[in-house]
Amino acid sequence: MSKKGLLYKYPQNLPITAKTPLFTLGEGDTPLVRAPLLEKVVGCQELYFKLEGCNPTGSFKDRGMVMAIAKAKEAGSKVVMCASTGNTSASAAAYASSQGLETIILIPEGKIALGKMAQAIMHGAKIVSIDGNFDQALNMVRQLTSRYPVTLVNSLNPYRIEGQKTGAFEIIEVLGDAPDFLFIPVGNAGNITAYWKGFTEYHKLGKATHTPKMMGFQAAGAAPIVLGKPVEKPETIATAIRIGNPASWQKATAARDESGGLIDMVTDDEILEAYHMLASMAGLFVEPASAAPLAGLLKLARNGHSFAGNRIVCIATGNGLKDPDNAVKSAPMITKLPADLSAIEEALRLG
Ligand SMILES: *Cc1c(COP(=O)(O)O)cnc(C)c1O
Repeated sequence: MSKKGLLYKYPQNLPITAKTPLFTLGEGDTPLVRAPLLEKVVGCQELYFKLEGCNPTGSFKDRGMVMAIAKAKEAGSKVVMCASTGNTSASAAAYASSQGLETIILIPEGKIALGKMAQAIMHGAKIVSIDGNFDQALNMVRQLTSRYPVTLVNSLNPYRIEGQKTGAFEIIEVLGDAPDFLFIPVGNAGNITAYWKGFTEYHKLGKATHTPKMMGFQAAGAAPIVLGKPVEKPETIATAIRIGNPASWQKATAARDESGGLIDMVTDDEILEAYHMLASMAGLFVEPASAAPLAGLLKLARNGHSFAGNRIVCIATGNGLKDPDNAVKSAPMITKLPADLSAIEEALRLG
């Protein structure tokens, strides 16, 4: 049985008109999974991870892309374009291809995780790799889409934000109310903007008694919002948040301030620690950027912040299989033995 999809589920909450083509690749309705062992480490009452890696292309980008592609098609667009650290292009290429639209993507040279690249190739995107970073790529996409009849599908496109806000709706529907805290990675800052929009809209509709504190985390080498100025050469292992000048900067700080939350940063070592803890203590294999929220939560807990009695949700933004290189690189030595039972028994010390 196929899932109904966001455009069918939330027509009242989304900018859908009689002319909007409705379709789905099965996005949305992702699991909210509790992590009891990590709850003990953090010292909170309830800790959940929203598994956005369960979306059709393996990241939350699909929520916004289904809306953006539907509106592009409604407007008669034939070509869509985006700059991407990987997941936006994978999602754009998949959703556009399903509707007969062409996709052009601009990516920073050598910085796209292997799985994301494979997706863009398979969905038939026209791929341009530039000798520059994401921020430069986005700048060029903005100029090109203003000059030619090509629709921009980065999160500057307001329909992306509209689609992505449904993640907040689902959390409230499953928990029966908003959580106390929402931990989320911050790159171009579209998603923290979208979640805040979703939480405030559902609160106004009376579906939640309160809104959560929005806790955004950037990587230390790409933390413009924390530092208060653009980062010229952003660097982090978490390529999905390797962004030095976020497009939704002001909206992200507004979400932070209106919610009483914070935007802080975590180092690559802290991200990698959380990446491994998620996999080994919660059964959740996410991509490095998606481990930033847990890294931030652990950092706050270690610095003495008490989360006792709190209900916390972290957004696990993307699937770990997107970036297998990072996982394999960190492997301990794999034991190599002959195909001999006693040698294996001895090595594993099972007895
Ligand atoms: C895009 C992305 C982010 C960052 O989201 P923004 O909306 O750019 O802040 C984080 N994690 C993953 C896996 C992503 O694909």
